[in-house]
Amino acid sequence: MSGLESVYLGDNDGWGDGRQVLLCPTCQYDYMHRAGVDLLAAGEFRQGGAALHFIGECGHAFDLVIGEHKGKVYLAVQERPDRDDPHGATTGAD
Ligand SMILES: [Zn+2]
Repeated sequence: MSGLESVYLGDNDGWGDGRQVLLCPTCQYDYMHRAGVDLLAAGEFRQGGAALHFIGECGHAFDLVIGEHKGKVYLAVQERPDRDDPHGATTGAD
């Protein structure tokens, strides 16, 4: 797997709950929708992991990657320029 980038987090503006929210890695917009999940075989993260697919209301698509290597758990994002959702979800679907 290549193209992994740092995760961007932002304040949950207006809610006052102190939580942070995931931001789009391309434009830092903070509204997005889940679009599926895939388990990752061993590879860059030697023990494998998972890729959670998101589509932002901004129009960008990316994966939040959770990987494990030697007992350490890593978080990263990977943009998906094709914007195709491998599971058929679309922006705003629920
Ligand atoms: Zn975006």
